[in-house]
Amino acid sequence: MDQINIQFYKTKIGELLLGSFDGKLCLLDYVHRRMRVTVDNRIKKGLGADFVEKNDRILSKARVQLDEYLNGERTSFDIPLVLVGTDFQKSVWEALMTVHYGMTASYLDIAKVINREKAVRAVASANGANSINLIIPCHRIIGSNGELVGYGGGVPVKKRLLKLEQNNSGLSDNEKYNFIGGKNTKYDGVFFTAVKTTGIYCKPSCSAKKPKRENVIFYDTKKETAKNGYRPCMVCKP
Ligand SMILES: [Zn+2]
Repeated sequence: MDQINIQFYKTKIGELLLGSFDGKLCLLDYVHRRMRVTVDNRIKKGLGADFVEKNDRILSKARVQLDEYLNGERTSFDIPLVLVGTDFQKSVWEALMTVHYGMTASYLDIAKVINREKAVRAVASANGANSINLIIPCHRIIGSNGELVGYGGGVPVKKRLLKLEQNNSGLSDNEKYNFIGGKNTKYDGVFFTAVKTTGIYCKPSCSAKKPKRENVIFYDTKKETAKNGYRPCMVCKP
């Protein structure tokens, strides 16, 4: 029987399990996630192979790139992957890889990418079944209301990853300002727009009248925005 080389790897976002098969990465997942055994079994069965704790070139390379990513020094990965799942799951995971660093998308956005607009729940489920985390960026998927929804590594880790990416994607305040008011939801949940003259804060996609540049201040979290005395907008309900 063939083997899947696995390695456990402690990082600042939790302990990870990495696996490689035939020179490709098949697993990069949180050791303590729900359904750990189910996911492992799916991969073993799908590849017809068992786990063996052993290091190799691809696992070393993945760890190096992972460290660089977590240190904010890397915005994309260059590792060959083998996706283990149904055709539908694979199509969702491939669509997830089109959501770039520092961006977010909703389940509906992904459903549209694969031309299955009615299959939002199945998309959410395939997203949850992703077992090559970070490289297949399921952490960039947020609810259509901007909520962070669930994550295998926990919502605090998801928040931390989105914040890391936002800080490193180099979006200046002027770029944020140019982006707002376009009804595009890709930065919803990543930053909030507060208006000094009204005391109201919005999602970047809010369709209300665009405020003047000098009246706008940007915050990274809802909590921080509220702490500074701003109230949520009635139109976009951030
Ligand atoms: Zn608004």
